[in-house]
Order: sequence, then structure tokens, then C-alpha cells
Amino acid sequence: MTMIVVLVGAPGSGKGTQSKVLCGKFGVAHLSTGDMLRQAKRDGTLEPELLAIMDAGGLLPDGAVTALIGRRTLDADCSKGFVLDGYPRTVPQAESLCSMLKERTAELAAVVQLDVPRGDLEERLIHRRTDKGSGQIYHLLYNPPPAELLQDPGLLEHRKDDQPQAVKARLDAYDSMTAALLPYYEKQGLLRRVDAVGKPEDVTGRIYAVLEEK
Ligand code: ADP
Ligand code: AMP
Repeated sequence: MTMIVVLVGAPGSGKGTQSKVLCGKFGVAHLSTGDMLRQAKRDGTLEPELLAIMDAGGLLPDGAVTALIGRRTLDADCSKGFVLDGYPRTVPQAESLCSMLKERTAELAAVVQLDVPRGDLEERLIHRRTDKGSGQIYHLLYNPPPAELLQDPGLLEHRKDDQPQAVKARLDAYDSMTAALLPYYEKQGLLRRVDAVGKPEDVTGRIYAVLEEK
């Protein structure tokens, strides 16, 4: 049986951190549109106008990200299911996902909303660093990278869109566009709300609990 779960939450709510744990436990693929776009940026294949939107903290056109997900979900490692992290972010994206799953006679198990107050989100994003090699996500204060990574700034990524100006734009984009997704999924009876403040492992426990609900 396939397991398809959507994690919805503002930037910094812990989608990436929790997706990695869930995918490890359930043996499903982690599909982060943000990670895919950053990889395209590193490969030099992301169109310059999309790159500019991303660096400024705006949302890319729905069609561009939907095409990415449509292709990626056909890969063999998605056959047992996947956790969607950062997609869908708008109601049109959610509608495209719904059509795509219908065509493949698949369905969503749940949409888990990670809820974190805005003040905490800014603080989390500004302190986020990512290991360029492994993709492991750190927080400079709560979950600091190991000394060997800190000593060589070339090994740690400090995302351009985690600078204060872009952080504000991204949180505003979440409030104005992504928040509309919550009533969309609530109406379908798929939305599960999780308090995502506290130790990451406690948040994971709350996610397991809502995934067991019918
Ligand atoms: P998202 O994928 O939703 O943008 P991340 O998983 O990248 O969020 O987490 C953003 C930042 O918050 C990272 O620095 C991460 O280490 C930190 N973080 C994640 N979960 C928690 C938590 N429960 N408490 C405090 N900080 C957290
Ligand atoms: P994330 O890593 O999820 O915070 O995404 C980083 C950036 O990639 C976002 O600020 C957007 O510019 C872009 N992006 C990622 N996913 C989407 C999406 N579903 N729709 C539009 N833009 C996206």
C-alpha cells in the first residue's frame, strides 16, 4: 500500500526536519520542491527569472512546480509513497495534485499542518544552516552543526532566502497564499493540525499520533 502525506506549514515550521524522520520510518521518498529547486540552481538549470523570484522569497508559478512534482513522483523510489514537503502551497497546486493522484488511482493519507507562531519562525530561519553534503538541517543555537562543519564555512549552506528581508517576504507569502490551503483540505476531512513547538522528537510523536487517526 502506498502512503502519501502532505506536510503544510510556514517556512521554518520544521517540514524538512520532520520529513526526513517520517521517510526513514515509513521507507517512502522525501519530495521537497525547495530542495529540488535549489539543486536546479546549483546545476545551473534554473531559469534566471525563477531564480530571482526564489532568492527574493516569492512563490514560483504553479505550473513550474507542478511539472517538477509530476515528473519526480514517477521515479521508482516513490512507488511505496512519499512525503510532500513544500508542495502544494496554493489551492491551484492542490487541485493539480488531486487530479494527478486520481489519474494514478492514488490518494492522500493525510495533510499534516505544522503550527508555529510567527516570531519563532523568523528566529528558526535566521539560524538555519544546512550541511551541503548530506542535506542535514541544523539550527545554530538549538541543534548546532558539528565543529568540523562550523570550522569550514564552505561546507555549510546559509540559504540566500534565509536572510531577514527574504524571510519576511516568505512568511508574508505563506500567510497570503498558503493559508488558503488549510480550509481546502479541512473541507475534505484530510487536515490534521499539530503543535510544532517543542523538541523535534516530541513533534514527531505528535505527527505519528495524528497519522494513526482515521
Ligand atoms: P521548513 O522545512 O519547514 O522550512 P526546517 O525543517 O528546515 O523547516 O526547520 C527550520 C529551522 O528550524 C532549522 O534551523 C531547524 O533546525 C529548526 N527546527 C526544526 N524543528 C524545530 C523544533 N521543533 N524546535 C526548534 N527548532 C526547530
Ligand atoms: P522551501 O525550501 O520549501 O522553503 O522553498 C524555497 C523556495 O522555493 C520558496 O520560497 C519558493 O520560492 C520556491 N518554492 C518551493 N516550493 C514551491 C511551491 N510549491 N510553489 C511555489 N514556489 C515554491
